[in-house]
Amino acid sequence: MALLLLLYCSLSPDASAFKLKTEAAGIESRKANLESRWSLSRYTTKGVSFVLDNFWDELNHEELTHRSFGCASDAESRICMLPTSASARAPLAALVGVRWNDNPPFVLEDGQTLSGCRGTTIKLPALQPDCWLKVFLDGQRRASVRADGSPGEQFNSANRSALLLRSHFGDMQFLHAMATRDGELASDTKAQIMSWAEFSYRVAQSEIAPGAYLYELKIPGFAALFDKQRGWTAMTLFTLGDGTFRVEPDFSWLAFGSLLHVVQDSFARGHADRADTPGQVCRLSNGSEFPKPGRIRSFRSYANQDSGTHANEDSVRAMTEHLLSPPPGAVEVGAALLAFHRNKTPWQIVSEYLDVCVFDLEDASAAAGPGQEFRVRR
Ligand SMILES: [Zn+2]
Repeated sequence: MALLLLLYCSLSPDASAFKLKTEAAGIESRKANLESRWSLSRYTTKGVSFVLDNFWDELNHEELTHRSFGCASDAESRICMLPTSASARAPLAALVGVRWNDNPPFVLEDGQTLSGCRGTTIKLPALQPDCWLKVFLDGQRRASVRADGSPGEQFNSANRSALLLRSHFGDMQFLHAMATRDGELASDTKAQIMSWAEFSYRVAQSEIAPGAYLYELKIPGFAALFDKQRGWTAMTLFTLGDGTFRVEPDFSWLAFGSLLHVVQDSFARGHADRADTPGQVCRLSNGSEFPKPGRIRSFRSYANQDSGTHANEDSVRAMTEHLLSPPPGAVEVGAALLAFHRNKTPWQIVSEYLDVCVFDLEDASAAAGPGQEFRVRR
């Protein structure tokens, strides 16, 4: 969970006062002219400074991505949030891919609908945005641990939950380098991350066809995620309701961006607890060597986290702190993955890099939890 859409709502009822860090692209923006516009004013009129927790706010994912693509500036400058030089800028499709983990397009199925929502694609910022917020807030409430400590509702493939809810509160929280529940073993979270990494990297490499059915893919642990979604292809997943990025190389960049998101989130303290182990080097079977980030001590899970404390560690302050920390971090790992992608490095080598370098575990059986400083007080 993490990223981008921290919505800052000012006290003004004017919807244009929102600094929503998403942008419509291509067909999506044209559809925006037909669909309802942002109208979150009812939230702002209550004077609520509304924050969608779990998101890196203020274009942080975008900045990390541009930096991985070569943008360089001081950590505090924020020039890399919106680089002016084309040579230091990530392609738009890659940015949309980075945002996808937080903002996947989805359709509410029969029995899931909320008042005012239509059975067509929902996605920020243009496609039924009011409904997006309703679904998100409703899901957040339903997923919360009850006052008596009993677990909240599950969102998964089997009950055909909306992809938005699976990603943020359900069985696909690995999209944010997080466990799905307290007590989940680090090795299980990592296995899911590796499964997603294989999928996204091989789609980016065009080894997996955009039209391939997800439930048929021979990736360990992957097909089960879409067993009840047998009409879904890789293209459904990434581009439902909007064909803007269905052409190459855009489609590849979408998938690659989704991989970057997982890696970036894994450096956010609310998502994973990393040890500080500078000076380590990891060696791959092809002889290449890479500086190694700190080992993962445990993954966090969100159900018992305080959303405000979590969001604080996804903030621009937290990202700047990360940028000021000794490398390698999210930027350098992203750059290494970009080099792999551009050089058409086989998945087997990339897999080794992610396994022994980026997601190396201190203790495979470490149980996920909220993390003491993030634990919600009830
Ligand atoms: Zn995230």
